[in-house]
Amino acid sequence: MSAEALKCKECAATYPLDAHYVCERCFGPLEVAYTKPELDAAELKRRIQGGPLNLWRYADFLPVERPQSALPAGMTPLVRADRLAERLGLGEVWVKNETTNPTHSFKDRVVSVALRRSVELGFETVACASTGNLANSVAAHAAAAGLPAYVFIPANLEEEKILATGAYGAKVVAVRGNYDDVNRLCMEVSAERPWAFVNVNVRPYYAEGSKTLAFEIAEQLGWELPSRIVAPIASGSLFTKLARGFEEFTDAGLLSGELPVMNGAQAQGCSPVAEAFAENRNFCRPVKPDTIAKSLAIGNPADGPYAADLARRTGGAVDAVTDDEIRAGIRLLAETTGIFTETAGGVTTAVLAKLAARGDIDPSERVVICITGDGLKTIDTVRGTFAVHEIEPTVEAFEAGLETELRAAV
Ligand SMILES: *Cc1c(COP(=O)(O)O)cnc(C)c1O
Ligand SMILES: [Zn+2]
Repeated sequence: MSAEALKCKECAATYPLDAHYVCERCFGPLEVAYTKPELDAAELKRRIQGGPLNLWRYADFLPVERPQSALPAGMTPLVRADRLAERLGLGEVWVKNETTNPTHSFKDRVVSVALRRSVELGFETVACASTGNLANSVAAHAAAAGLPAYVFIPANLEEEKILATGAYGAKVVAVRGNYDDVNRLCMEVSAERPWAFVNVNVRPYYAEGSKTLAFEIAEQLGWELPSRIVAPIASGSLFTKLARGFEEFTDAGLLSGELPVMNGAQAQGCSPVAEAFAENRNFCRPVKPDTIAKSLAIGNPADGPYAADLARRTGGAVDAVTDDEIRAGIRLLAETTGIFTETAGGVTTAVLAKLAARGDIDPSERVVICITGDGLKTIDTVRGTFAVHEIEPTVEAFEAGLETELRAAV
């Protein structure tokens, strides 16, 4: 298959494959439409397996002409998490560990595709509106490609994310406002300047990058579908494109069976999609975010209604968890898998725990949770959640310390 046009998700009007993101007729969002696969499943599988060990192995399903990047992303580990499953009373749980991407979040996937397409469209400067991880990723991939980058972020972002972005040489623009203010500003700037804003004017290409997460999960499970996915929702793009990835592989004959049950995860301090799901609405009421899960703090999510609909269609749900549950989720994942995640992964793990406690998950299910970012980026959230034992440098002090620790533990 190959990319054929940009198509309106609402009215199906089509446009050429350039830098457009809204339908001129109905203002609906545009996405990439493809021709039917020309190759049979065996040939497609052979091409994938013979491809590079990064997301470009799925180039037949991506909207670029020359698949390449100077900072390859993807092919992250899918690890079986038996200790986590046991702790929650579940059968089979797998963790898709996206922290191993070049800038430690799943955003390297979407940026790879958006940046490549932007270069093909002739853009010479890249930019983005970011809740943090995207800024990091755009800055790094632009540096590797030798392109100037402007990243727009809310001024109150975690310092770790700001520092790690500036280090790549990107121009960091800290906007006094929340993400939704940043996004609106970027829409206005993108109308004025010939820049590729990866999640604004080239958003249809950006969004396609998320499908590769689903492609990898299926390939790593031995070309099988999981029964359930738990994934975080900010704008809802990742969540909806995961399902699209499974559908495209199924349509191409690479997989068979039903879509997985799709469970979305949000923070209670910013849960417009969970609210729309709970109230059975087909629109999201914008909220003012107030949560430690800053990477998910989008109060007016562009793909929110599609995400809520997907959860309904697949028999899933969209749940929200408190900041305390998020901290507990981070610790639970770290203690049972050795994977230290940022707050977004805490949200996802906490929602898994909630589904397990509610009895929503059958022990026979194969569940995959998507851990989308690294704990070192939100290190402050674990401060004070454990004790550090300071002692004098003597064996006696150590033995005495052990005793108190043992006493404290009983
Ligand atoms: C961006 C992001 C997401 C999901 O974002 P969507 O806008 O819903 O695609 C999830 N986790 C992390 C860590 C992110 O940075
Ligand atoms: Zn339209």
